[in-house]
Amino acid sequence: MIESTRNYLQITRCLHISKLLESAIVTAEKSQMSYLEFLHYLLEKECSEREQRSITRRLKQARLPSMKSFDDFDFAYQQSITKKQVKNWLSFVWIEQRENIILMGPPGVGKTHIAIALCYEAVKAGYKALFHNMNDLIEALMLANLDDKMDVFLNKLSKFDLIVIDEMGYLPLNSVAANLFFRFVSHMYEYKSIVITSNRLFNEWGVTFNDNVIATAILDRLLHHAHAITMLGDSFRIKHLKQ
Ligand code: ADP
Ligand code: MG
Repeated sequence: MIESTRNYLQITRCLHISKLLESAIVTAEKSQMSYLEFLHYLLEKECSEREQRSITRRLKQARLPSMKSFDDFDFAYQQSITKKQVKNWLSFVWIEQRENIILMGPPGVGKTHIAIALCYEAVKAGYKALFHNMNDLIEALMLANLDDKMDVFLNKLSKFDLIVIDEMGYLPLNSVAANLFFRFVSHMYEYKSIVITSNRLFNEWGVTFNDNVIATAILDRLLHHAHAITMLGDSFRIKHLKQ
């Protein structure tokens, strides 16, 4: 009977129940569960295992450079961003409405930390997220363009609900790169959410893109539905050096 049951469980892909079947029967007998309680217990275990696996898989896909969470963010040190604001973001209405978040400010103020934490929370909430460093993204766009595979590349990115572009503006872009980035932003516009971190303020984006016209076109799309935050203050890295 147990072997046949396990077989059915495998055919129906209830692999976790199949694994814990015997111990679950012992638990059920000990705690005198009703039939309904037993069924509920098994299905709950299966669903929570599946959810956990899905989070682990999507976290791997997100390619976060390190783990950062809002729990280990010191809001007293960085006051340009409030807990209330973060709580608002964690409702993920902005992803549902395909809005963007732009975090600007000098090095070390926590822009990347916030971007990673947003990705992590989005993944836990069931979204697909991808973290990209700006230089890596530009390199990937250039390669795709050279191979005449731009559409394939952009379609691959479209599978994500949220794409983080970290460190935009550290290196200036040539006009080919700026145009490719514009294509990327246009492709995602009103379709997917983008989070950008940058050491440059909006009025300096022309320098980054070496071209005011393209910078304006990029900004126009990114800012149309966006939450822009300028993070001020001293570098957290330097604060630690001083202590
Ligand atoms: P940025 O991207 O603005 O240059 P990071 O997010 O990389 O800065 O922050 C630099 C380091 O300091 C990281 O290790 C980050 O986790 C930490 N850090 C920055 N701000 C805070 C903060 N307010 N609370 C806790 N850690 C912080
Ligand atoms: Mg950073």
